[in-house]
Amino acid sequence: AQALKKLPASNPQAIALKYVEDASKTTEAAHKPGSICGNCQFFTAATGACTLFAGFSVNTKGWCSAWAKKA
Ligand code: SF4
Repeated sequence: AQALKKLPASNPQAIALKYVEDASKTTEAAHKPGSICGNCQFFTAATGACTLFAGFSVNTKGWCSAWAKKA
């Protein structure tokens, strides 16, 4: 498998989705307390991959506005 590149803060989709590497730093009203990439349904813990950001890895403790609780 190809190694994933860390999602740059400058990535247009990251900006559009208000991605932050540290969920505790977001000021977005949409952020639910405790929600992080690590408990999002789009996150793959083994690789750091996010379904929404193909080819990139996101931070386990990150967050974006597309967060959805892992089932
Ligand atoms: Fe993190 Fe989920 Fe947003 Fe992907 S969709 S960046 S895993 S919060």
